[in-house]
Amino acid sequence: MISRTPTQNDFVATMTGDLPGDKLGAVLMHEHVILVDPELEINRPQEWNEAEGLNRAVTDLQAAHERGIDTIVDLTALGLGRNIPRLARIAARTDVNIVVATGYYTWRDLPLWAKRFGCKGSLDDLLTQMFIDEIRSGIADTGIRAGMLKCVTEKYGLTTDVERILRAVATAHIETGVPISTHAHAGTRRGLDQLRVFAQEGVDISKVVIGHCGDSSDLDYLRELADTGASIGMDRFGMQLGPLLEERVATVVRMCELGYSGHMVLSSDYGLHTRMEQEYLDNLQPGHRYSYVPEVVVPRLISSGLSQEIVGVMLCTNPRRILCGTRQGGPEVRS
Ligand SMILES: [Zn+2]
Repeated sequence: MISRTPTQNDFVATMTGDLPGDKLGAVLMHEHVILVDPELEINRPQEWNEAEGLNRAVTDLQAAHERGIDTIVDLTALGLGRNIPRLARIAARTDVNIVVATGYYTWRDLPLWAKRFGCKGSLDDLLTQMFIDEIRSGIADTGIRAGMLKCVTEKYGLTTDVERILRAVATAHIETGVPISTHAHAGTRRGLDQLRVFAQEGVDISKVVIGHCGDSSDLDYLRELADTGASIGMDRFGMQLGPLLEERVATVVRMCELGYSGHMVLSSDYGLHTRMEQEYLDNLQPGHRYSYVPEVVVPRLISSGLSQEIVGVMLCTNPRRILCGTRQGGPEVRS
């Protein structure tokens, strides 16, 4: 493992070492590889078949690579069943670069261990230190370092624990320069709450991606987010949730026409789950894969009038600017 820090100019930490920005290629900015609850895995082993799961993950990643995807950001932070040693076995078998995330995923509360730690010392310091350690030293003795910070704000809003995580993520970002990517409930415009907290903490807003913006077709909300300098994640293509494909594509096209191509990233928020959940999802959304964006979405964007260049801005230029240490200069690309 190269010992460069991920904050140095134009490099990003990946599962297989630090990658120069010009090797990132086309990036899906909000994906998962495996989301399996560790407690369920231990107590209901029939819900997960390791060999089958790993093979399917590799197959799905390779299919996307054949369609032109070079890198994914796996936003499976703690709270979603992150397992970095398992992920390393997948990363070794795929040509897709995988950037992993630190942070914590919860809609309302931190788990019991965090409450109990609160009796002994500052939980805020513990969270911040955990995130910084995972960026600087690596995760679970693997030496694999996080290249992204993740946090969540659901319809329940800024609960005590959610706000605590957001502020710890902000502090870790300021300390390390690593960007922030969020899950934000679009229907309640939670991205604006997140940006308020980040601004209070002094976060570089150009390094923030507000997630799940594609769940909204409310251009006022999307423009308000992007006007702060943040990027917005049009990141659930292929999911049978909220607006369907045509509407999601139309929103991206309209935002490009309004001059916001420099503020959008594309993704599908795909990942493998426990067997029972996977069977349900496969039936519900049969085409949902990492390859959905290059295979289905990009051709629709082009046939709707966007140029290859503008699609490249959303798939390559913006991710590189967000993930790597330096901001790529030059004027904003307008359609
Ligand atoms: Zn996600």
